[in-house]
Amino acid sequence: SPPLLEVNDLKMHFPLGGGLLRSPTKFVYAVDGVSFRVERGETLSLVGESGCGKSTVGRAILRLLKPTGGQVVLSGKRIDDMSSGTLRPLRRRAQVVFQDPFSSLNPRIRVRDALAEPINNFGLAKNRADLAAKLDALMDKVGLPREALGRWPHEFSGGQRQRIGIARALAAEPDLIVCDEAVSALDVSVKAQIVNLLGDLQKELGLALLFISHDLAIVEHMTHRVAVMYLGKIAEIGTKRQIFARPRHPYTEALLSAVPKPDPLAKRDRIMLKGDVPSPISPPSGCRFHTRCPYVFDRCRTEEPRLREVERGHEAACHLNDRDPQDNPLLDGARA
Ligand code: SF4
Ligand code: MG
Repeated sequence: SPPLLEVNDLKMHFPLGGGLLRSPTKFVYAVDGVSFRVERGETLSLVGESGCGKSTVGRAILRLLKPTGGQVVLSGKRIDDMSSGTLRPLRRRAQVVFQDPFSSLNPRIRVRDALAEPINNFGLAKNRADLAAKLDALMDKVGLPREALGRWPHEFSGGQRQRIGIARALAAEPDLIVCDEAVSALDVSVKAQIVNLLGDLQKELGLALLFISHDLAIVEHMTHRVAVMYLGKIAEIGTKRQIFARPRHPYTEALLSAVPKPDPLAKRDRIMLKGDVPSPISPPSGCRFHTRCPYVFDRCRTEEPRLREVERGHEAACHLNDRDPQDNPLLDGARA
């Protein structure tokens, strides 16, 4: 059977000036040729600094944005070029949890009605009793008391709000939930609770998660695979173990060096990247990371490295991986 989600050479090139110019001469290359798959029941984390295009990828998958190139295939069906009418029944299958669920919840609508909306829209309840049972079950699933159904959004704490946001996503009975910085605004202890809840729900329901985050420490707790994005492209993708223990891209290595380690003896030397992320309007030539890379050499400035397999299931886009292992600084400090 096909993977649950397949993204092939996805592009999001936004014309500068909001598309009002008849023939725009400049584009924002927000997403510039991104490919990956997500299997049923799997968590893939999309990580990178803000502006790397990870949220835009999420919005394209949800078809909140229409891709300007490439394909998004959900359960074997291409959704990137579907009309909204054809897309309607498929929308149920991919739901979203945003950083602030209250940007998507109406403050004048009680929790009950907010959760009933997707159930009714997608015709998922047989009758009123079935609807009531589904609402109770959703509250149980996300660990909120059933009586909270009668309350208003503002009556809840940040963590509880995020549980409601998750319940609303679950109400549509999706196969995939896109979590866009879903725990980033929460306190540390609450963060852990919500991450654990997502993990439990995933196991219980066989959900796939696309977990978009800038926070590698959180990702390490709950992901199966990781894709690292830089300036609209995937720099490296692999299993959690491969990415965390044997990174094969200098950008991943730098991001990991900033993750605090519980064991002080395992302390990593922090790699400070020079400069800011360049503009996606005119990305650097050759390797997009070359303006900040501690290992940059001549070839990097002119030739773009392709994403290629460095070990089974692990791909990286860096010229260093073409060298003999003893000349590859990425292989020096392999982490335990
Ligand atoms: Fe650094 Fe060159 Fe590798 Fe790019 S290709 S990450 S500039 S070493
Ligand atoms: Mg974002």
